[in-house]
Amino acid sequence: MVAALQNRREHVAIGGSGIVGISCALALIQNGYRVTLIDRDEPAAGCSFGNAGMTWCPWVVPLARAGIARKLPGMLLRPDSPLTIRPSYWYQGLGWMRRALKEVKPDRVAASSTALADLIGASIESTKAMVDVANSHDLIRHDGWIEVYRNKSSFEADADERAIQNQHNVAGTSIGPREIRELAPAISEEFQYGIWNEAVSNTRDPGALARRFFDAFIERGGEYVKTEIHSIAFGADGTPVFITDRAPIAADKAVIALGAWSASLVEQLDGKVPLAAERGYHSVCPTPEVDLGRPVVFKESGFVATPMNSGLRLAGMDEFASLRAPANPKIVHRIRKLAKHNIPGLNTDRATEWMGARPALPDSLPVISTSVSSDRVIYAFGHHHLGLTCGPATGDIVRSLVSKEKPAIDITPFRVQRLWSV
Ligand SMILES: Cc1cc2nc3c(=O)[nH]c(=O)nc-3n(C[C@H](O)[C@H](O)[C@H](O)COP(=O)(O)OP(=O)(O)OC[C@H]3O[C@@H](n4cnc5c(N)ncnc54)[C@H](O)[C@@H]3O)c2cc1C
Repeated sequence: MVAALQNRREHVAIGGSGIVGISCALALIQNGYRVTLIDRDEPAAGCSFGNAGMTWCPWVVPLARAGIARKLPGMLLRPDSPLTIRPSYWYQGLGWMRRALKEVKPDRVAASSTALADLIGASIESTKAMVDVANSHDLIRHDGWIEVYRNKSSFEADADERAIQNQHNVAGTSIGPREIRELAPAISEEFQYGIWNEAVSNTRDPGALARRFFDAFIERGGEYVKTEIHSIAFGADGTPVFITDRAPIAADKAVIALGAWSASLVEQLDGKVPLAAERGYHSVCPTPEVDLGRPVVFKESGFVATPMNSGLRLAGMDEFASLRAPANPKIVHRIRKLAKHNIPGLNTDRATEWMGARPALPDSLPVISTSVSSDRVIYAFGHHHLGLTCGPATGDIVRSLVSKEKPAIDITPFRVQRLWSV
């Protein structure tokens, strides 16, 4: 109680109300801090609204690894590839990929996957605790997922992925056509190879889940300010001040959780970081007329079909483009075309479309770290494909950093300094 009252005197301002910023806000306010959450948009209106909904998944596998490096040239040239680079972004996109290729060395892949496994492991407890606090069990499903392949060659080409998952005890089990039919009768009989992972959990509405966390934060006295952050300054005593469209917002400590938009503030404080906008798309079919029962990952097509409250959400693809580039409608149309083929009875009438920017760093690890130039500023960005799964664990780590306590896991791999040591 005394500690909580002491903390109450400290004020933390958080830039960004995606799932990461909201999770930090909830973790801090529960520990007695005064917290102001700042966003130019509504809470969870960005990437955290439109994702595929996995609240736990076994993605301990960094994107940059030898298996992907081998496939990369073919993927970039194939017109129907799940991975694209906007022509206007080739120079920057290739720079990022060159940087990512430095991460494919076995020792770096091993280090990144161990760090991801720790974070994903910690996320189970952190997510459960936040779901409890926000009274949102009705939004969570424990249905597992299946990953399916049409071709033996593509199944075998992902053996490296499964080997890494095995090392961290999160791999699923291999299944054949009969089990695929049992688990997801609505999908095409073309799918002959699969992986069943019953540990995967998902939400029926990622935007609503983040919003419940946000409501729990507000109920506990949290403050929300809707305004654009332009830069960060420091008072004479070193306290951070967010410079915004409205009045400056000063606090004892600041957290930068601006997702794919975090780079300019980090650059202002510590230097350039290789943060890319790895954009993904979704289409929601409100009356799908098929019941998948659980999320199905179509590995060759590059998207996941997740049953949600609003219909069947088809989410995925990776498009490297500038943050400001408009969405490419061809990509989301391709997802729907592939989905109609993969799920023969699917009704796509009145399907909606969405695009969002995953904040991606070349080693597939987020930054969860104190700034180099000020120990009053904490970074929490770069969660690429795992922001929903790892947001709550990130919130708990940020709370430890703010209170100068030892975090539950080793956070050395998430330090911002690593980005300058390659
Ligand atoms: C298609 C797709 C599927 C995905 N599926 C999954 C999944 O199943 N499971 C999973 O764990 N992850 C998934 N992800 C990734 C996940 O959605 C992201 O990692 C996560 O949403 C990132 O959260 P964030 O809070 O860091 O960023 P965001 O949600 O993007 O939030 C950043 C916030 O900062 C605000 N902001 C930015 N700049 C400023 C500024 N200057 N001033 C004020 N506010 C600002 C924005 O308005 C935004 O609200 C998926 C992503 C995509 C695209």
